[in-house]
Amino acid sequence: MIRRIQVDWDVEGNPTISMTQSYFAWRELCRLRNVQMEATASRMEVCTLCHGDGIVQSDEYGWMNCICVVMDRLREKKAALAPYRGMVRKNTFNGFRPWGSQESRKLLAEIKKHLKAWTIWPDRWVTLIGEVGTGKSHLLEAAANEIGPMALYISAFDLEAHIYKAVRSDYLGQLILTMETAPVLLYDDMGSEHGSEFVNDTVQAIFMSRYQRPLEYPTVVATNLDEESVRNIQPRMADRILDRSIADVFPLKGIVSWRANGPTETR
Ligand SMILES: [Zn+2]
Repeated sequence: MIRRIQVDWDVEGNPTISMTQSYFAWRELCRLRNVQMEATASRMEVCTLCHGDGIVQSDEYGWMNCICVVMDRLREKKAALAPYRGMVRKNTFNGFRPWGSQESRKLLAEIKKHLKAWTIWPDRWVTLIGEVGTGKSHLLEAAANEIGPMALYISAFDLEAHIYKAVRSDYLGQLILTMETAPVLLYDDMGSEHGSEFVNDTVQAIFMSRYQRPLEYPTVVATNLDEESVRNIQPRMADRILDRSIADVFPLKGIVSWRANGPTETR
């Protein structure tokens, strides 16, 4: 499939090329050519692919940031996100086996397929709305494991704890910037946080910033609240994550908890 990376040209003809999309493009090119990304990035002082320009053109994706630049960014993001990485279980898409009624299985299979494809080329936001035990965390963890270090999986509860800690230790600005610019954010359990006004404002600021550049900062949100509750409790968040022009919204309706169906998931 031919995909084009978003490029904005300034008045002097200098391009700003999406770094996140460049990363996913290189990842796919290397996968198709069966080579490691690390091995493709030049170890020479001057990159042999871009000769130091930092950008290259490809048939498949058009203009893209060179892999030398992309790998630098990857290292930088790996370090920046490390303090916020929670424990992600080894859940995979293959290990996600839809359960329940025929309709339930169909819906779960559809969401799994959608999210799996999304991890290859995340050009939209995804919002999963469903009660506890409907498999949302498994799917987010599978996405995190599939994408690797460019993705940050964090629960609302953990982000809240990080925010309080950052306030106490005076690095809130740094935390906000890191969350705003995480290449891929997988935000689980929205609604499980205690939700003081301060925390809500901080989280909303993060999402507002990402929302302004949705292609550069693809985001998945999972919430236990139903759509109406999201709108009532966190109206400004609702305006972002339920905006169908940028987000694919999946209500997990009619899914009974996997807990009621025996061990269908690896927990
Ligand atoms: Zn290069």
